[in-house]
Amino acid sequence: MDKEKAKNSKKFVALCGRIFRDADPKYFPSAQYRGRTLRFCTESCLGAFLADPDIFYKVHRNSEKNKDVKP
Ligand SMILES: [Zn+2]
Repeated sequence: MDKEKAKNSKKFVALCGRIFRDADPKYFPSAQYRGRTLRFCTESCLGAFLADPDIFYKVHRNSEKNKDVKP
């Protein structure tokens, strides 16, 4: 992989903390939560979120240092 290509490649972080390179977020599952669009690595990851959004978000938001600390 050359640097030129890496620069232009897409990168995003799923809510669970997995980092994807050379990946387009539009091909991954997403969901709206508190006015934000969250990305997920897999359909099962999305399923886990949908099963209990608040818990899943609480567990994983640490990685993105969310300012919203309300319970
Ligand atoms: Zn995931």
